[in-house]
Amino acid sequence: MRLTLHRFALPLARPFTISRGSIDTRGSLIVELSDGGQTGLGEVTENSYYDQTLDSMSAAVEGVRSLVERFDLTVGRPEELWSELASALGGNMFPLCALDQAAHDLHARLQGLPLRALWSRDGLFTLPGVAEATSSFPDSSYTIGIDTPDEMLARLDERPGWSVYKIKLGTPNDVEIVRRLRDHTDALFRVDANCAWTAEETIENSKALAELNVEFIEQPLPADASDDDKRIVFEQSALPIVADENCLVEANVELCHGRFHGVNVKLSKCGGLTPALRMLKQARSLGLRTMLGCMIESSAGISAAAQLLPLLDYADLDGAVLLREDPVRGVRIKKGRIEFSMRPGTGVEFETEIANRLRLP
Ligand SMILES: [Mg+2]
Repeated sequence: MRLTLHRFALPLARPFTISRGSIDTRGSLIVELSDGGQTGLGEVTENSYYDQTLDSMSAAVEGVRSLVERFDLTVGRPEELWSELASALGGNMFPLCALDQAAHDLHARLQGLPLRALWSRDGLFTLPGVAEATSSFPDSSYTIGIDTPDEMLARLDERPGWSVYKIKLGTPNDVEIVRRLRDHTDALFRVDANCAWTAEETIENSKALAELNVEFIEQPLPADASDDDKRIVFEQSALPIVADENCLVEANVELCHGRFHGVNVKLSKCGGLTPALRMLKQARSLGLRTMLGCMIESSAGISAAAQLLPLLDYADLDGAVLLREDPVRGVRIKKGRIEFSMRPGTGVEFETEIANRLRLP
């Protein structure tokens, strides 16, 4: 098959702040795989926390070009390609993720089916009725980045009507912020402390947040917090604790058992749809709640992630909603409700005019 790389500068609707910094555009690498008259797309975006730049990711993909182009998806399976690429890339998950998404998209298109319908046919999960029925799937949350309380309130007010908001925390007055936002909506809240709290703060905050209709706390402790701290928080928190920075790859899921109540899987952290599917199934078998998160990315990556909705308790797939312009058409998210594209594969295609304008050399 043929491999093509596309690079874009994705413009953010607003500068986005988390506890580690602030950004206003995001570089995106979209890989295209073509064979048998069909084309599949997969995406990763640059990420300084994980040390991934457009150049480093492109170079890694180029480094496995001959392996990819030798592979025949008209007979082989995406999971086989993933295994070969995983060892060739030596744990470099971001480029692996883009290639794996594109392989799954292309493979399903070659079968003429939406990817979720193909997985359902193969017995990986059961779809409720027709493949397009999404009413039993969780809504996506809308993320409100850390800012002054006034700014955070403005962000909430400019996106009214979502059923769930995810509030990024990590300030000296986190509970006050949530209390302030709570006065303005009855929607469900989730909070993401992005590693900023101690065990004592987490337990204390959990009690106050439980009174404010908060559903769970994502990654309150630093990833390298002691095992004792994780266990104490797990046992004493008034709210479920969901691992993000502590659940990166497949091997981490089992370690979250007894330390977290759920796991937030992200395709770019774990290396794509192939491992994400296994992680979500393993998490469920361990009694962990399942969440799928995203990075700031276009509808290429989000549409791939959305194929996993049947395995999710919580969805956090607003990455493309945070863009001013999106070079790819795929799933649509309306106030949190996720509507699939009816096309085969992950259902994505370039918005040609926008893609040409946002394209980087
Ligand atoms: Mg997080």
